[in-house]
Amino acid sequence: MTQTRESDFIVNGNRVSDGAGVQLTRIIGSPELNMLDPFLMFDAFGSDKPQEYLAGFPPHPHRGFETVTYMLQGRMKHEDSVGNAGIIETGGVQWMTAGKGIIHSEMPEQKEGLLAGFQLWVNLPSEHKMTEPKYQEKAASEIPVTTLDDGTNIKVIAGRASDGTEGVITNHFVEPTYLHVFLPAGKQFVHSTEETDNAFIYAVKGQLSIGKNQAPLNLGQLSVLGKGSEVLIKSDKEHASEFLLVSAQPLNEPIARGGPFVMTTREQVEQAFDDYRQGRFA
Ligand code: FE
Repeated sequence: MTQTRESDFIVNGNRVSDGAGVQLTRIIGSPELNMLDPFLMFDAFGSDKPQEYLAGFPPHPHRGFETVTYMLQGRMKHEDSVGNAGIIETGGVQWMTAGKGIIHSEMPEQKEGLLAGFQLWVNLPSEHKMTEPKYQEKAASEIPVTTLDDGTNIKVIAGRASDGTEGVITNHFVEPTYLHVFLPAGKQFVHSTEETDNAFIYAVKGQLSIGKNQAPLNLGQLSVLGKGSEVLIKSDKEHASEFLLVSAQPLNEPIARGGPFVMTTREQVEQAFDDYRQGRFA
């Protein structure tokens, strides 16, 4: 029997300053929602005021999880301690498995105009936290977009769309779904999920309603979905909308956080700080 996922609760997030002074909205990893296993953090950034983003994220370490940067608009340059460098441009995604450790910087590659996008942190299972660092970086042109009969477009970053279109990112650690859905006015979106997956919807544009209860979700809000085998989203009659659907099986493991390190035990976090201070990161 199909069980439709209803909106469990809605999170607005907190305005915070991170990096060297970048203004962003922290939605997961905030006092309102500490985590949604395996998602440790979800930030939305979006500003056309250079003073809110120019300072960027100078070199900093990560260990024990993955960072996923999805650019809606603008250009962000990244560089790291093992010689990787590149520019994430409008519509592109970078899925970085920090694993045992990486030191990287993320800096705007623009002096003016809109810079907007998201960063999601995905936890790694404890047995894979010390895996070799790895990147999957894909330009907008490489990410499959499938069009359904009713005109809905689904950009498949990870996981699989309802018509079988496979995402461009392969992730064998937590096998997440990450879709950007463009829903025309007056249409509905239906997507089957594993019943026990944790899942959220983030409204990128317009207004949506969630589930059979038609709980409203406004621009910039995140809905944590209740359990169920199907996601059901409607756009309003007059306006098209856009949203992200992100889901994965929870890891159900203990978590020890320490700034840029997310490990299983306190000792491992202390070890990470020690390794970083002693220059034992790559
Ligand atoms: Fe980072």
